[in-house]
Amino acid sequence: GISFAGKVVLVTGAAGGIGRAAALAFGRAGACVVVADTSVDGGHATAAMIVEAGGKALFVACNVTRDAEVEALIDKTVSYYGRLDCAFNNAGIEEEYLPLAEADEALYDRIMSVNVKGTWLCMKYEIRQMLKQEGGGVIVNTASVAGLVGAPTQAIYAASKHAVVGMTKTAAVEYGRAGIRINSVCPGLIDTPLLARALKREPGREQKLKDANPIGRLGQAGDIADAAMWLCSSHAAFITGHQLAVDGGLSAI
Ligand code: NAD
Repeated sequence: GISFAGKVVLVTGAAGGIGRAAALAFGRAGACVVVADTSVDGGHATAAMIVEAGGKALFVACNVTRDAEVEALIDKTVSYYGRLDCAFNNAGIEEEYLPLAEADEALYDRIMSVNVKGTWLCMKYEIRQMLKQEGGGVIVNTASVAGLVGAPTQAIYAASKHAVVGMTKTAAVEYGRAGIRINSVCPGLIDTPLLARALKREPGREQKLKDANPIGRLGQAGDIADAAMWLCSSHAAFITGHQLAVDGGLSAI
């Protein structure tokens, strides 16, 4: 496997789902992992799992929509581990299954705040730190297949993930010469608590989704963790500003 021995890696939204799988994978690969989430119990549990497996982890409670909390998250990372090599900005929410004209302002504000503002604030403070240190750094943002193509009944979510893709491309161009690579992963349908909540609302949909996927299954959180790790590694040294679909071929249809 890829080694992250001695590297400091931050994962947001790491109390569950994709973020937890990624935090555990980075921990197994030898990284010092900073686990960030609003969920204190889940975040502590992820950090404890890493430590029990023989790795190093620090949990920091952080709401990525608050500028001061994100600034404090990066400050704590650097005061504890000395630097920040890689960041996986993965915290995100998905709430609507509504035609665009039925959504309301509060829903719009919630989704945009976490998915777009949260990703921007994380990148802002991560990049400031990466510019200060020797060797630059690597950032991976979690977008979605809904950041590449339309997502009926999820117009606001799709808009938020297209925004993540646009920010990723722009930041990659702005900071390439400074030694900072920035990419996004675009998960398809991944078997996480987020998807389980969505499927509960539509019984019978899970089999249909599996049948519609070219590979014939849902993705696992580990599929996205593997892609994020690879993008963070030196194997992807010449890749920046890219959106990597990890979707079993869904976006190829
Ligand atoms: P999840 O709900 O299982 O986990 C998301 C985590 O983010 C939770 O632990 C939650 O507490 C945390 N979080 C939410 N708001 C936060 C905030 N303001 N500050 C800090 N942490 C916050 O979801 P998941 O499926 O693991 O999703 C992770 C990412 O992957 C999200 O960005 C999501 O949009 C994206 N994604 C998921 C799928 C899928 O099918 N599961 C598909 C495409 C994209």
